[in-house]
Amino acid sequence: MRIEIVTIGDELLLGFTIDTNAAQLARALAAVGVEIVHRTTVGDNPGDIAGAVKAALDRTGAVITTGGLGPTSDDMTKASIAAIFGKRMIRDEAIVAALRERWARYRRLGPFPESNIAQAMIPEGATIIPNAHGSAPGIWLADEAGRWVAMLPGVPREMRGMLTDELLPRITQRMSADGSGAPTVVRSRTLRTTGVAESALADQLGDLASGVDGLALAFLPGVDSVDLRVTSRGLAADAADAALERAVVKLRGAVGRFVFGEESADLAEIVLKSCRRRGIRLSVAESCTGGLLGARLTAVPGSSDVFVGGVIAYDNSIKRDWLEVSQDALEEHGAVSEEVAVAMAKSIRARMRTDIGISITGVAGPGGGTASKPVGMVWVALDGISSEARCLRLFGTREEVRQRAAQAALDMLRRALETS
Ligand code: ATP
Ligand code: MG
Repeated sequence: MRIEIVTIGDELLLGFTIDTNAAQLARALAAVGVEIVHRTTVGDNPGDIAGAVKAALDRTGAVITTGGLGPTSDDMTKASIAAIFGKRMIRDEAIVAALRERWARYRRLGPFPESNIAQAMIPEGATIIPNAHGSAPGIWLADEAGRWVAMLPGVPREMRGMLTDELLPRITQRMSADGSGAPTVVRSRTLRTTGVAESALADQLGDLASGVDGLALAFLPGVDSVDLRVTSRGLAADAADAALERAVVKLRGAVGRFVFGEESADLAEIVLKSCRRRGIRLSVAESCTGGLLGARLTAVPGSSDVFVGGVIAYDNSIKRDWLEVSQDALEEHGAVSEEVAVAMAKSIRARMRTDIGISITGVAGPGGGTASKPVGMVWVALDGISSEARCLRLFGTREEVRQRAAQAALDMLRRALETS
């Protein structure tokens, strides 16, 4: 089954409210095998509402709207859509009674406001979708040709409740009745990569970048990672899972060395698990990240059996006095250098008596860059199972450079654990 979504409200167009309803509807419907083929947002304007819903009906014959069901003058959804179906608006006495009863139960602030009656006006011949979470009921309106519009409230909590309680059962029932479902599903798998730019990833993927065996591939870049999401549509559940598995194998074949996990995997958690399996303990010495690496590690429950602690060696005097980085190295090579990064990693490992020490020192910016040491230049070093140091050239704001540096340090450790 193919459905369109129309979300209604000036606040959505103005950007004051993020359209979470459309995203939630799309996810919930995909899970039962409904395909969302088109999404529209319009303001609180009867002509625009009618135009958008009519166009959607002409394309797919199945539309869900959210918003504009309330009692105020900006709530015009029902009348605008009734007009498309050539229906009059009539007053539903059962709704009036329910509204009065609700008013008496909750508000008790003076007499019942007559403007509430607007919520009891419904298109002739419409079915009411009960709202257990608020006052404005939803409306289901269909014509003889089987085309339908379901109108839900804009308040996300009410919308969600009605979707689960009322609308999804109604839609799945229709799908089995008209033979259009429910065998197909929309399913995805996500591979998480780091240490590689989106464009470089696309190059390495070659032909796969535009789709894997007919499955759509999406690039989802974040600050410190790029996710690759492959999606199957139009297949039954078992076939979708098998096709996705084949696609994931192909993707891993092409860019597997950048992949650190699947779905919502966290790199810190993966590294900690791998250390735990091997009885390895960690310590960190951080300069420009100011404890971010330690924060990433300690954010994971149960990290204490692997992560011992660290030092934020921000000022050179701390690097010298506490981590015993030589004054000569600091003067000759500068704080952002291979020599200093290596010395920090060795020292923290020794002082904290761990199997591995990791260090980060760099120029986070926005100031402080020089020609030889520009903003974004970061040295990361590891001492332990292997000894290595890497110079990264990171871009972005101060916060992005810091996040990317912490992630790069975790990824260096992940690779070292894999190969040793
Ligand atoms: P009410 O009875 O409260 O007036 P309604 O059905 O008329 O409900 P709206 O007035 O359109 O709904 O929206 C109510 C609130 O719900 C808005 O203030 C807005 O914050 C939120 N909202 C509306 N549409 C969306 C949407 N698509 N996504 C997320 N939030 C929304
Ligand atoms: Mg409203």
